[in-house]
Amino acid sequence: MRKNIDTLELPKDEMREYGYKVVDAIVEHFSTQNDKFPVVVGSREEMDHLFLEEAPEKPTDPQEVLDFVLNKVISKSAIVSHPKSYSFVPGPSNYISAMADTLATGFNVFSGGWAASPAAAELEIVTMNWLLKIFGFPVKKGGGIFTSGGSMANLTAIATARRIKCGDDFAKAVIYLSDQAHSSNIKAIRVLGFKKEQIRIIPTDAEFKFSINKLKNAIAKDRLEGLQPFCLVATAGTTNTGTVDPLSSLAKICKTENIWFHIDGAYGGAAILAKDGKALLKGISKADSLTVDPHKWFFQPYEMGCLLVRNSKWLKSTFTEKPEYLRDIEGNESEINFYDHGIQLTRRFRALKFYMSIKTFGLKAFRTAISYNIELAEKVEGILRKSPHWEVISPATLAVINFRFNPIGENYSEKKLDKINQYISEQVVASQEALLVTTLLNGQVVLRMCLINPRTTINDVKETLAQCKTFTNITST
Ligand SMILES: *Cc1c(COP(=O)(O)O)cnc(C)c1O
Repeated sequence: MRKNIDTLELPKDEMREYGYKVVDAIVEHFSTQNDKFPVVVGSREEMDHLFLEEAPEKPTDPQEVLDFVLNKVISKSAIVSHPKSYSFVPGPSNYISAMADTLATGFNVFSGGWAASPAAAELEIVTMNWLLKIFGFPVKKGGGIFTSGGSMANLTAIATARRIKCGDDFAKAVIYLSDQAHSSNIKAIRVLGFKKEQIRIIPTDAEFKFSINKLKNAIAKDRLEGLQPFCLVATAGTTNTGTVDPLSSLAKICKTENIWFHIDGAYGGAAILAKDGKALLKGISKADSLTVDPHKWFFQPYEMGCLLVRNSKWLKSTFTEKPEYLRDIEGNESEINFYDHGIQLTRRFRALKFYMSIKTFGLKAFRTAISYNIELAEKVEGILRKSPHWEVISPATLAVINFRFNPIGENYSEKKLDKINQYISEQVVASQEALLVTTLLNGQVVLRMCLINPRTTINDVKETLAQCKTFTNITST
């Protein structure tokens, strides 16, 4: 038996062999993932059968555990970076960032306070400055924080908005969001202890955008009732359709009404790196706070979200606590302790993967990839429009497109169309060859593709459409 087991150590050569095997497995995955199936299935019973056991008191051979995990665990996880993984928001990660995460974990870098790792804090400042500049936020005054994801970034934003606009008393505070806002915002609002009566869900117009008129009516009514409109959550790239709310108009309303302007650009924000995307996102730089999710369209592995704010002092005055056990490491003003800018104290070194991947590939590669994705979705729209079988329900926007099977001349009922399109999705997913699920738009069942993977080709999409076509012959109504 290894003598260093009681200190949870392995001999050096064993560590090396183990690590090489892990790297080999990851490299193999990156170079063969396109040939695998993106969809996995597994019931609770099957998973219990494979894995359920008591925590073992006795050791097991490390290679045996690793082999078991590679064979059974990893193989039962969906491949979200597969070219035919079209649903939800895919996760087209990159190898450099995966290795960066390995380094951050391997060295167990504490990314909470300046004193523990000044370089990690500095890299968070540097990469945040890159993002501030990309989104047209003030670089000097502005700031931000990397979070586990968009949900945490939105929570951090709304907590900050409330602190800055309402102080301690938020009994009369009211928050506005559209019916297309991401569910994480509602979750955040609930976590923060707001009552149902303090939330206004504003209907969207025919293009799924915030209805300005309805918003103005709601704000005016709330003012008349003596309430305090304090925050508006707009979306730059709704999850359903990729729609960007009328950001400039919303910014103007927020300014006049003294309302915090938060933009949730979790998936769509990255489009700013593409020319067409930048035009669509006009007004994004006017936000008080902005959520973007590097683990979506900035091609980072999970978990990495980001919140940007116009003034970094807002974060500091919301999240700073001064417990006695941290008194020795406070440091000076310019040396940021990121535990003072957000909810977490102990934080992993998220900035590293962003830093290393942008340094390695260059920002231009990211611009090219994102432009490619936007154009790919537009090409798909063109193909669909030229076909007598498919109907475009919402046009290609920020690489998202919604469509349904609705052949010309058949005059199927809405009920039948819903049924066929649901069936197409179920059959495609059951084949495991592509992940293509439905969403609901105006009550219609539609197929939704989110094409943010730069490795997805037009041929992949054509193959999937052809596959969809084979599942359209259900006869029952
Ligand atoms: C994905 C998404 C979120 C949630 O982000 P997570 O990283 O999944 O927590 C929030 N808003 C929008 C618009 C999103 O697309």
